[in-house]
Amino acid sequence: MKVKNNNVKKILIVDDDEDIINLIRIILENENYTIIGALSGQDGIKMALKEKPDLILLDIMMPSIDGWEVMKLLHTDEQTRRIPVAMLTCKTDVRDKLTGLQEGAIDYITKPFSPDELVKRINKIFKILS
Ligand SMILES: [Mg+2]
Repeated sequence: MKVKNNNVKKILIVDDDEDIINLIRIILENENYTIIGALSGQDGIKMALKEKPDLILLDIMMPSIDGWEVMKLLHTDEQTRRIPVAMLTCKTDVRDKLTGLQEGAIDYITKPFSPDELVKRINKIFKILS
């Protein structure tokens, strides 16, 4: 049994595809991260305020409010503006990557990803942040 402690990082995944949330949940819970999920930008913002996650994985392509808009809203709120955001997307366009980094995303994770790649990237993000 894995022991929960205060060093366990909480990651919020915001994606309109529930399968993606569940997949990431399985991969990262196995690495002892705590995972919470939101299926829309609106719910993601609410959950970020309530749960104060250590990292947000944010899908770009979502109905209603897209990931860019969600990140802008998170960054304008004093309570959420310091939470690091990594973009999660199917797009492989290099220009989007540049935009993501310019807009303040800490990383840019392209779907589909291998479990190993995802774990490495998430571990690296927390190493950079620590
Ligand atoms: Mg999507």
